[in-house]
Amino acid sequence: MSPAVDGVPVSRNVYADHNATTPVRPEVVAAMAPFLGEDYGNASSVHAPGRRAAAAVDDARDQVAALIGARPADVVFTSGGTESDNTALCGVADALRGKGRHLVTTTVEHKAVLDPAKYLERVHGYEVTRLPVDARGRIDPERFAAALTPSTVLASVMFANNEIGNLYPVAELAEAARRAGVLFHTDAVQAIGKVPVDVDALGVDLLSVSGHKLNGPKGVGALFVRKGVPFEPLLHGGGQERGRRCGTYNTPGIAGFGKAAELAARELPEAAPRLAALRDRVEARALAALDGVWVNGDREARLPNTLHLGFQGLEGETLLMSLDLRGVAVSSGSACSAGSLDPSHVLLACGQDKERARCTLRISFGHGSTEDDADRVAQAIVEEVTRLRALA
Ligand code: PLP
Repeated sequence: MSPAVDGVPVSRNVYADHNATTPVRPEVVAAMAPFLGEDYGNASSVHAPGRRAAAAVDDARDQVAALIGARPADVVFTSGGTESDNTALCGVADALRGKGRHLVTTTVEHKAVLDPAKYLERVHGYEVTRLPVDARGRIDPERFAAALTPSTVLASVMFANNEIGNLYPVAELAEAARRAGVLFHTDAVQAIGKVPVDVDALGVDLLSVSGHKLNGPKGVGALFVRKGVPFEPLLHGGGQERGRRCGTYNTPGIAGFGKAAELAARELPEAAPRLAALRDRVEARALAALDGVWVNGDREARLPNTLHLGFQGLEGETLLMSLDLRGVAVSSGSACSAGSLDPSHVLLACGQDKERARCTLRISFGHGSTEDDADRVAQAIVEEVTRLRALA
């Protein structure tokens, strides 16, 4: 007999919250292990242990660069997506102070972009244009182009939205920015490993990535900075990363990130359709079995692994907790704002009222997710929504 919590049977656990973070793959742990053990040298030291660490950093730089089609020299290792986004916004703003004090971004960015923009506005007197989205979370490229002015120093539009999964037309927007003489940054933290990302095909000047969203370790990421793009570093110190990001190299983290990037690049062609099939399986079952369910975001252009559902008359957090009791881990929105019951800024930006924005679930699959997981998630959602509605 399966164990029970509060009378609810507990089945095998299912993790469907890969947009929050992902399990570290065994190959990644193996790539990190030497640098947590016998190869503890500082990658900036000239002796043999240091040179071994430096070689691991070089290999990882090649692997991350290959995943995004960049020159290795244009990859700057950071402590993660948040630092990469902050460096892009504040670093370019600082370097181009003489040009102007205007930034263009959107209302649906991750807080790692929205908050440095707010900081620049509050502390340094920048003007920030935050482009609105339509009901499906899409931005209007013409409106984007019209927002660029001679004093715009940077435009930042995410590649893929972490909550609703929307994919944004980055190549088209970067081209408009280029024509206007404005640098373009994209937060590709949720895109890498799920859809192809190539910095040259996209024509972007800066691009943020993070290790823990693609089965790498937490606390490591990278910022692509195209050669010649002016930016001031956020951290000053020992001159690492050619002065672009100082601080002793996180060798184990960087080695793990490199391995994760290599695996993601190799497996992407197979992974994307497989994940989309899992997403569609849950979506079809939920829509067929329940009334009062809707899909948030842009179903024509979204991440293959992400499904964002709304449920009439339910509180997302209550549903999340009932699913958790059954061993099904999903999210009621963005993990980074978990702990607060405020409705998601992304759904509010889509014009949803607070009531509607509160009863949502984000289901996100990843490496290791199976059809059986998708079926368990779908069944648990259908049963719990039905049970909670009957109680109400
Ligand atoms: N940008 C996006 C779109 C994200 O989803 C996240 C993490 O949730 C971040 C930035 C922050 O990345 P990190 O957790 O590596 O700081």
